[in-house]
Amino acid sequence: MKKNIIFELVKKEEARQRQMIGLIPSENHISPEVSAVLSSSLSSKYAEGYPGRRYYEGNQIIDEIENLAKERIKKLFGVPHANVQPYSGSPANSAVQFALLELGDTMMGLALASGGHLTHGHPKVTFSGRYFRSVQYGLDDRARIDFDQVRELALKHQPKLMIIGNTAYPFLMDFKKFREIAEEVGAYVLADISHVTGLVIAGEHPNPVPYVDVVMSTTHKTFRGPRGAMILVTAAGLKRDPELSDKIDKAVFPALQGGPHNATTAGIAIAAAEAMTPAFKRYGKQIRRNADALAAALQKQGLKLVGDGTETHLMLIDLTNYGQGFGLQVAFAMDVAGIYANRNTIPHEPMSPFYPSGVRLGTPMVTTRGMKEKEMRQIAAWIARVVEIVKDEQLPADKKLRQQFIRDFRAKASKNKQLLAIRKEVEKMASKFPLFTWK
Ligand SMILES: *Cc1c(COP(=O)(O)O)cnc(C)c1O
Repeated sequence: MKKNIIFELVKKEEARQRQMIGLIPSENHISPEVSAVLSSSLSSKYAEGYPGRRYYEGNQIIDEIENLAKERIKKLFGVPHANVQPYSGSPANSAVQFALLELGDTMMGLALASGGHLTHGHPKVTFSGRYFRSVQYGLDDRARIDFDQVRELALKHQPKLMIIGNTAYPFLMDFKKFREIAEEVGAYVLADISHVTGLVIAGEHPNPVPYVDVVMSTTHKTFRGPRGAMILVTAAGLKRDPELSDKIDKAVFPALQGGPHNATTAGIAIAAAEAMTPAFKRYGKQIRRNADALAAALQKQGLKLVGDGTETHLMLIDLTNYGQGFGLQVAFAMDVAGIYANRNTIPHEPMSPFYPSGVRLGTPMVTTRGMKEKEMRQIAAWIARVVEIVKDEQLPADKKLRQQFIRDFRAKASKNKQLLAIRKEVEKMASKFPLFTWK
């Protein structure tokens, strides 16, 4: 048979992941079981509708799978209703907004620049910001959610929906406090725990379920399942609005989606079973220990962290004392050195999302591979060396020169001997840790 170029590329990507160290806090390595169902015959089936109410024949087994996934998720979180069909986190947030808001209604979310997600009402470029009246809250001087501002804005704008959730916020979310404010204005509360689901399950992060009406989570981040999402309706939510589950289900299908991705549904069912084990709790606890170790070691190396540390799986290096807009160079150089992360804005970002002043790091992936505190200290030392190697590569002040500067920098850094020497060390360590360690 002719060589299949896509298979070759998949192999290459697998090798890339194996040889490098991944610190992107929103990524994870799935278990062999989750991986197996994703490439199964379940992908060949249409199942528009919900179990017992499909628009296609032949869904007897798919119904069993989706029911199992739903039951396991409900049990795991102690909620009366779950929808596991959203294609991913962004469409799931859109579904919640479609279910609870009318065109032009007011909603509130954490601003992107403060660590919120685009779908939480980012103005102009998103569905959530264009079709609803979006009010955005931010952080205080300690880089924590500014609850005084949340309350002030809520009282002033009387939102119908308030969202608490984040993608680049290293601290715990106080769902109780948020709920109290929402109660004052009668708003629905959505907790988007996409990033921290695994920590919630492990008891390492406050649980939103007692305090919010709806919980949304992606299933591919700390939950360690397939790319997808789930929407949970809590007992509190049902009490406040007995039609809530129905509204959510109708928003997912038929309002926004067609047939569910059944292979993903099966993957969610497997990931849910994995998440119920003591091993998963140990995993969540080790993510936290590793994050603390990485944060402390980075600080010991003289690197500054936003808000001085982490209470979760992620942290943000604030590079402004080296130069504004230095995140791109550091993230690129880290990649050359075998450690991949992402450049990120920091609170009160002086530059722009394209040339931000921070780098975001997280420990879910390295923890899945079985790395511990000792490895975190080594990784911190490598990152500090990378920063030192490229510290003079600062963005030119003249905006017109920046693109060319970045092109030249990339070409030069890709061949930098010191960075490539670190890569050798990284690969040696990575080779001792398989992509998924099930223990
Ligand atoms: C990742 C994330 C999303 C979006 O998920 P996608 O699957 O990328 O669409 C939404 N909200 C939060 C808080 C996230 O971290």
